[in-house]
Amino acid sequence: MQIARAKIDELRDMLATPQRVVILSHTNPDGDAIGSSLALAEILRKEGHTVTSILPNRYPYYLEFMPAINSVVIFKNDRQEEAKEALKRADIIMCLDFHTMSRLDQLGELIDENQTAKRVLIDHHLDPVEDFDLMISYPEASSTCYLVALIIEQLYGAEQITKSMAENLYVGMMTDTGNFAFSTLTPDLFRVVALLASTGIAIPEIHNNVYNSFTEGRARLYGYVINRKMKIFHNGTVAHMSLTDEEMRRFWFQQGDSEGFVNYPLTIKKMKLSAMFTQHTDFIRVSLRSRGKIDVNLFAQRYFSGGGHKNAAGGKSFVSMDETLAYFEKCVKEYANEGLL
Ligand code: 5GP
Ligand code: MN
Repeated sequence: MQIARAKIDELRDMLATPQRVVILSHTNPDGDAIGSSLALAEILRKEGHTVTSILPNRYPYYLEFMPAINSVVIFKNDRQEEAKEALKRADIIMCLDFHTMSRLDQLGELIDENQTAKRVLIDHHLDPVEDFDLMISYPEASSTCYLVALIIEQLYGAEQITKSMAENLYVGMMTDTGNFAFSTLTPDLFRVVALLASTGIAIPEIHNNVYNSFTEGRARLYGYVINRKMKIFHNGTVAHMSLTDEEMRRFWFQQGDSEGFVNYPLTIKKMKLSAMFTQHTDFIRVSLRSRGKIDVNLFAQRYFSGGGHKNAAGGKSFVSMDETLAYFEKCVKEYANEGLL
């Protein structure tokens, strides 16, 4: 795959002289959001630009190993003034790995205060909002990290990819494809993986850091959720699971601990759709996964004001957990009646 020449040329023009760049990614950042932000920040700094990378809230503890992750400004926790100042002074604001401003929470309003900065989108979600000066939006790409790798290659040359950029990019490419098991696994994706590998990154180590670095509480919580909270219905083809505040406290929940749980029901052969509902302070986070033709992007848009990808999407619910689960079951029925399930 290649990024369209015209888009690369436009980006090259924007970056022809030293710029003040802000790189933003989404709330509850995952490996792809962080990896793409860090790699892009590194190359742009190397090219002489002034870069501030901002995330709306903290990343999960098991991603702390990612190179230069401490350089990111976490808006919710600390350094709000630094984030505001950088956004105000930015010449270019680059939005990575999200397709709607609602994924930035309060940070979204701050961007609007800077009406002169050029806005660039680099993303792989379906149906991106359109208010960008430059849209590098490729829903067929399996991750934003893959797109950033292509951008670096096409703008500056593959040899400019350092080992630390490669580590960060590999994390996002690995996690967004479920360890290269789903999503669009093209020959070109593996060409880029080979390119990253040639920088000397330790792939087994990265894998261990991401997938085998959880707490005991997380392991016990996982067992509890699958054993006690997984409800299977619709003739064994749909599953939902949920976590309340009380349950999270009981297992010493830390942000990110329930990441990946939603995939587990899909290990059952008959399963077509899996949903996970997690209690947050002001809403319930909805996570959806599906197999094959079942479109959870549409499901999330229609029923939970969300979106994402065809087989992995999310949204929010603003009623109680019990009401949310009952509503979900009703939506499943309606979806099935329309022949969409
Ligand atoms: P996850 O279940 O891993 O949180 O998210 C799966 C996919 O759905 C991601 O690609 C993510 O961008 C998208 N997604 C998750 N939550 C939301 C949301 O609240 N709104 C929208 N539009 N997309 C979401
Ligand atoms: Mn992504």
